[in-house]
Amino acid sequence: MEGTPKQPKNCSSLLEELVEEARQAPRGGQVADYIPALAEVEPDQLGIAVVELDGSVHTAGDANVPFSIQSISKIFGLAMAMSRTDDTLWERVRMEPSGQAFNSVVQLEWEHGIPRNPFINAGAIVIADVLTSRYSASKTAFLQYVRHLAGKESIGADHRVWESEKQHGNRNAALAYLMKSFGNIESEVSAVLDHYFFQCAVSMSCVDLAKSLSFLANKGVQPGSDERICDARSAHRINALLSTSGMYDQSGEFAFTVGLPAKSGVGGGIVAVVPDYGVICAWSPPLIRFGNPARAVSIITEFAQRLGLSVYH
Ligand code: GLN
Repeated sequence: MEGTPKQPKNCSSLLEELVEEARQAPRGGQVADYIPALAEVEPDQLGIAVVELDGSVHTAGDANVPFSIQSISKIFGLAMAMSRTDDTLWERVRMEPSGQAFNSVVQLEWEHGIPRNPFINAGAIVIADVLTSRYSASKTAFLQYVRHLAGKESIGADHRVWESEKQHGNRNAALAYLMKSFGNIESEVSAVLDHYFFQCAVSMSCVDLAKSLSFLANKGVQPGSDERICDARSAHRINALLSTSGMYDQSGEFAFTVGLPAKSGVGGGIVAVVPDYGVICAWSPPLIRFGNPARAVSIITEFAQRLGLSVYH
């Protein structure tokens, strides 16, 4: 990245302005309802948080309201799995964009049960398998990991969302059994899915998420505590995968218009990593194309463009 990003005179008032603009625009999209518990979320909630590497936190709207992190959990899972494995991990899950929906089954059979990347559901289920086989209590380990990163002991999973997805998770079960038939799942499918649904059901706010992922903007070291969370090569790799696959089939367009490593979730959240600057997290429940939240995409886009944050400058 060339130079440091332009600092707005008052970051919080810029965020307030962007949230207000987004509220005025037609809402568009629909709250995810294929997990019934998610459909109960109030759709007009909208928040953004920017956490800089020096620890400053800027917020607007519902930035402190916890929401279902869903696929954003795949970043934490991947970082944990990478810390317990070596490069053989990349024989079980690849590093290519899928060009398919996040829960697509078709490609997986053609490609012999090896998912395209760790951010589509099939890839994240392989990562969940790594976690269930490498940790004696993987769900507890996952919670401890995110609580530690966010510095907040009260973070937990929403058990209604967890149960709801378990009951309606047939497509994820299909992906897991197909991969098991190809020998790419080691543990019992039920245990792997239980872990996967649990991590997706964790609730965190925009501020929690932006704080907890700050190490990705800082070459693997968590700012503040200076604790090394992963090596610089792993941080680079996670950011590279976020850039190419984090927004699913909209990753190309997101790179084209925003230019930041980012990850969305069907709970309506998006995190975007700005290397050497900080992390942005926006949240708005209604989703549009490709399962990405429309208003959250638009406020992150505006913020990144106005400040010239793209990594491709
Ligand atoms: N739990 C969701 C699922 O498996 C996660 C998908 C997402 O957030 N894109 O379908």
